Amino acid sequence: MTLTKKIIIFMIAGAILGLILNLSDLNQDPFVDTYLTGGLFHIIGQLFIKALKMMVVPLVFVSLFCGTTALREPAMLGSLGGRTLGLYLLTTAIALVVALTFALLIGVGSGAEIPTSLEYTAKADKSLIDVILNIIPSNPVMAMAEGNMLAVIVFAILLGFSASQAGEPGQKVIAFFKALNEVIMKLVMLIMQLAPYAVFAILTKVFAQLGIDAINTLAGYFFTVLGLLVFHALVIYPLILKAFAGLSPSVFLRKMEAAWSFAFGTSSSNATIPVTLRTVTERLGVNKAVGSFTIPFGATINMDGTAIMQGVATVFIAHAYGVDLTTTQLLTVVLMATMASIGSAGVPSAGLVMLQGVLLQVGLPVEGIALILGIDRLLDMTRTAVNITGDAAVTCIVAKSQNQLDETVFNDPNAGEIKD
Ligand code: ASP
Repeated sequence: MTLTKKIIIFMIAGAILGLILNLSDLNQDPFVDTYLTGGLFHIIGQLFIKALKMMVVPLVFVSLFCGTTALREPAMLGSLGGRTLGLYLLTTAIALVVALTFALLIGVGSGAEIPTSLEYTAKADKSLIDVILNIIPSNPVMAMAEGNMLAVIVFAILLGFSASQAGEPGQKVIAFFKALNEVIMKLVMLIMQLAPYAVFAILTKVFAQLGIDAINTLAGYFFTVLGLLVFHALVIYPLILKAFAGLSPSVFLRKMEAAWSFAFGTSSSNATIPVTLRTVTERLGVNKAVGSFTIPFGATINMDGTAIMQGVATVFIAHAYGVDLTTTQLLTVVLMATMASIGSAGVPSAGLVMLQGVLLQVGLPVEGIALILGIDRLLDMTRTAVNITGDAAVTCIVAKSQNQLDETVFNDPNAGEIKD
């Protein structure tokens, strides 16, 4: 059985077990609550998530370094980097505009009740100026230690570029980093072998605690975000793939399956990098040099699914607190959520943490996050799948525009199929 299928089966099994525990009220049982869902399953899930987070900095740094060195000509790096960044920003902006328009039209959150029992402690927010200043790290080691991903990206690209220009010594460094990259990818794959069990534990816990009721009370919010995520993945990406590159959307979507199940199971674009990379290079025919630059880059800075959630969440919270958003506030949401999706790492719940910044900037109560906290996990899975679909779609478009896409591979349904 492939790992993909295994993850899906364990995911469904976890959801069913969780629902049974919830509906039978067994989740209230002190033993189940303390030792099972709150104990064993909580520990298994958290250890897995921590293992994924452990890999973020090494994975992004080393794979982007290698990706940059693969683009030997400065001109190639320039045009590839520029186009990729442009398309990443464009897709995020489209996602936000569609999400905000729809959320406002249906008035999501109007009349929602605000339970006072929910507590949420906000973390200090960074101002826009700080975000910009932090792009260049004054101390790269500290940037890594603090998980300041934008700074890590900039350092990796600068270092990779210099290595490719530094002749013989540069080549030695590149050879070392290439080997290190293989080792890191191997470790990620080893961790991923545990994904089915971790996903089972996480879903059991989530469903045991939430049950169907939680979704019911937040149904408006939940299904608005879900619908917009599906719309973005199945309508917007296919449209831009066709319009910008003339590529077949159905072939593209079918080949994303393995990456989707990983993204869904882990809620982490970063942990999914090896699978997304393999999908675009081996299944969709993108040149490896291009993919190894655009995919890790996108996994960190391009998060359309996250932006959609943030857009709808802002409108939802505004309505729930009886606030009417002005045009300026809406534009601020577009700007801030785009920045937030650039600045946050592709790890579980990153989007929720960054939502604070968006809310603060438009002057909405940050405590509002507590309203949607409970069901965010379920949406996180889906938006992560959308995030990586965006990375792959943009990668195909950019590769095609640079003559770095092998269309015979792209159109061959069996190309690079993973059988394990
Ligand atoms: N989990 C998402 C990702 O890794 C980020 C988020 O929206 O929380 O892409």
